[in-house]
Amino acid sequence: MLIDIVDQYDSEKKQYLKELRTKVILQLSTQQDHKKIVAFLSKAWIINIEDNEKKVYIWFSNDFIMAQAKNIFKKSLKEAVQTVYNPQYTVEYIIYPPFSNGNDLLIDLWELLNIKASDKKNTQPTEKSLKDELYDYFWILFDPSFRFDNFIAWSNNQFAYSAAKAVAENPWTAYNPLFIYWNVGLGKTHLMQAIWNEIIQNNPDKVIVYLPATKLIDEIILAIKKQNLSSLMRKFDDVDALLIDDIQFLAWKDKTQEIFHNIFNDFHSKKKQIIFSSDRPPRELTEIEPRLKTRFAIGLVADIKAPDYETRIAILQSKLEIKQETIEPELLGIIAQHITSNVRELEWALNFLSTRKAFSWNEISEDDVYACLETLGYNPSKPTKWNINDLNTKSQKNFDTIVEMVANYYSISVAELKSDSRKKEITTARQILMYIAKKHFRRTLEKIWMYFWGKNHAAVIYAISNIEKKLKSDEDVQQDYQIFSEWAQQ
Ligand code: ADP
Ligand code: MG
Repeated sequence: MLIDIVDQYDSEKKQYLKELRTKVILQLSTQQDHKKIVAFLSKAWIINIEDNEKKVYIWFSNDFIMAQAKNIFKKSLKEAVQTVYNPQYTVEYIIYPPFSNGNDLLIDLWELLNIKASDKKNTQPTEKSLKDELYDYFWILFDPSFRFDNFIAWSNNQFAYSAAKAVAENPWTAYNPLFIYWNVGLGKTHLMQAIWNEIIQNNPDKVIVYLPATKLIDEIILAIKKQNLSSLMRKFDDVDALLIDDIQFLAWKDKTQEIFHNIFNDFHSKKKQIIFSSDRPPRELTEIEPRLKTRFAIGLVADIKAPDYETRIAILQSKLEIKQETIEPELLGIIAQHITSNVRELEWALNFLSTRKAFSWNEISEDDVYACLETLGYNPSKPTKWNINDLNTKSQKNFDTIVEMVANYYSISVAELKSDSRKKEITTARQILMYIAKKHFRRTLEKIWMYFWGKNHAAVIYAISNIEKKLKSDEDVQQDYQIFSEWAQQ
């Protein structure tokens, strides 16, 4: 593993990595905005080169900065590395565990890129630890594929799309708050993250926070428990724009609503942008106190309805294009006839069919499509020839449910499970869950560390190997794992 390896480097190796980084940055600066380079790569280090894997490792100081860099520089960072180092190598992004001598590998990008003193002032805040700290704190489940350019606008979502775009381009001045709502699976999270993404790119010096409401609630409850609400409020002070996804989850949580009301008022009076998503309009948010509901609606409220048949076909086609796959138009027609109100399910159907295709000698057939629809819970009208049990698509509980069940089992909260706490039983529960996420849910390491806040790549690798070891030697762990893995398979 790479932890602390910088300590072991001799000065020659450090110098080499430093020079390579300089060359990469200079190469990148021929095509990328210099201020963005400084904002997002000032603390990105070329930390190692693995010749066996043909990989150049670039380490970042936190997941927010890393996700942004991935998104902003896309292929250009890899291409810069390939140009100045070796065209056969790829780039691996990774979060660094804290180690002491990393700064030896950095050089001042201001000087390197000759940025004018006046510009320096504008870009400075991203270098401040305050911002890093905030982004470390506000866990961000960031999906770089949620962007405006791959959000399909159709007649029924045109209004919400345009409103979102207007706020993304002119935050603080367009509509405040913006409240977008529609049913599950129709792109709320996609649109919210697209807005977040665009504001961040245009305003690298501002702090823009995207929070699922469940995370906000967990944080508030934790702060109440630890009696440090004021420090939570101070964190919000430094936020310039706040996006809260699925605000309907505030229902029934009276105390949380009261605290959020204060946060909202503060944002609103300072004209700081707020954007909400919800699965229903403000007036239908029962069990949310009326004064809060009214405030949600004082800016712009935009809704969306499900796509029509032609749009559903267009969505399927554009998703296939992204995956670089094809499916016969008649088969797409069958899917679009049945799945009428949920884009996520349209995507699932395509994923299901690609998996089938990957394991089969034949092209996708009508039978495959009907089997897929049935698996998704639809009642397709075609007489059944297929045997659903062949498909090995036994329904699984989702991972969130397992996490909740495990938390109950140990009498701890989900927030504690995801937190940094090192109490033994919390750590064990968390590590078993990471193992289950990998083994039963086939989640990538990246997804796992993003799920458990504040963890990094190395911590997840460690957790998984630790549980593998303990499953051979520790009876308690064996027993608990047995129970949890059965839950996961029910
Ligand atoms: P919600 O948050 O409303 O439940 P999501 O934003 O998670 O829905 O969307 C579910 C899936 O469908 C995502 O993968 C998203 O990219 C896709 N999706 C939804 N609406 C659109 C759209 N208009 N254009 C492209 N993809 C979409
Ligand atoms: Mg969502």
